[in-house]
Amino acid sequence: MSSPLYPWQQSAWQQIQKMNGRWPHAILLHGPRGIGKTVFAEWLAQSLLCETPLVDGHACGGCVSCGWVSQYSHPDYRRLRPEILESDDAQADPDEAATPKSAVKASKAPSREIVINQVRALSDFMSISTHRQGARVIVIYPAEAMNVAASNALLKSLEEPGPNTVFILVSSGIDALLPTLVSRCRQFPLSMPSREIALAWLAQQDCHKPDQLLAEQGGAPLAALEAFQSETFQQQEEFLMHLRRPDSETALKIAEKLQKTPIPLLISWMQRWLYDVFSFKLTGKIRYYPRYQKEIDQVAQAMSLPALLTLLENNAERKAVADHPLAPRLLIEEILLDYAGLSQPHN
Ligand SMILES: [Zn+2]
Repeated sequence: MSSPLYPWQQSAWQQIQKMNGRWPHAILLHGPRGIGKTVFAEWLAQSLLCETPLVDGHACGGCVSCGWVSQYSHPDYRRLRPEILESDDAQADPDEAATPKSAVKASKAPSREIVINQVRALSDFMSISTHRQGARVIVIYPAEAMNVAASNALLKSLEEPGPNTVFILVSSGIDALLPTLVSRCRQFPLSMPSREIALAWLAQQDCHKPDQLLAEQGGAPLAALEAFQSETFQQQEEFLMHLRRPDSETALKIAEKLQKTPIPLLISWMQRWLYDVFSFKLTGKIRYYPRYQKEIDQVAQAMSLPALLTLLENNAERKAVADHPLAPRLLIEEILLDYAGLSQPHN
């Protein structure tokens, strides 16, 4: 298993490895938002717990400990996060998407703070000896989410740390932390990658207009990618929504709305959709958009095979000119009208 660290984190990793064997009880990783500090902290935790780490300090990825850490079930590992982050994870699971959100959420909104009970729960964890006779690691993020009571409770734990215990605090707002807490930690800054490195990485993630997004997000590459993905995801939903029940009139409206969406993206969404309709028609299988199985089924029934093949062919031809369309909006209109003309879903 290769390290999940981002390219701009390699030198910070080498720096922190210089502490090897002399780990302080508490490390404070801090730096700007959107650069991957949490990934770094969790990987450091896994590497400290790994039973057969590599020479460069990275976790092996194959031992029992590594397996447990990746499942968040290692008996000597704890994460302290605000409750709201736990529920975000649950909702990020696409299989959960069908469950109404109101049913997932309890009547009380999940807390944005790390509360004292979460810190108190650590004392039981720290009072027994470690299960694997190795380190015991507690990752806390974002550390500034700890309220005052929680911070004071943590301060006590830091004053009497158990043997082999390492706290890793992660913060994008070190000024919001209790100064006494900060002074108990070995500070370790993680810095913003250079613009060149960030742009190269974003390009690898198929991010369009990376320089614009990066500038909007103050140079933070993960924040830029997140912004890109959330915007394009909504555009994709709108586009697919239309493909489910196409007609010429809404085709023009959608073309106007999506005229700023990169054409290569639109064409790839169309291609995937057509592929799914085609595949469902022939084999009953859906590869890209299983969440729209019902709609794909309807379209597949309504569309003749020759019409489908014509659309696939037209789409492939457009792909060739997609990077530099002369009139993007007209091209989107053409794509959608072509599709609407060749599909007659019955309702
Ligand atoms: Zn390992």
